[in-house]
Amino acid sequence: MLGRTDDEPVELECPECGTVFKVPAKVAEKGKVRCPRGHEFAVMGMLGGDGDRRGS
Ligand SMILES: [Zn+2]
Repeated sequence: MLGRTDDEPVELECPECGTVFKVPAKVAEKGKVRCPRGHEFAVMGMLGGDGDRRGS
């Protein structure tokens, strides 16, 4: 939890159109985001945090 908040922006690149945009970490952690152009895609392995490593 140190140095990390749910409001911390995460930079993502849309695989459909290549647009780079930011979403709050709490949104990215849901696993799906929508780029500004309306493409919805899954977020996997793009977060530097512990989102998918719970229980380690
Ligand atoms: Zn897009």
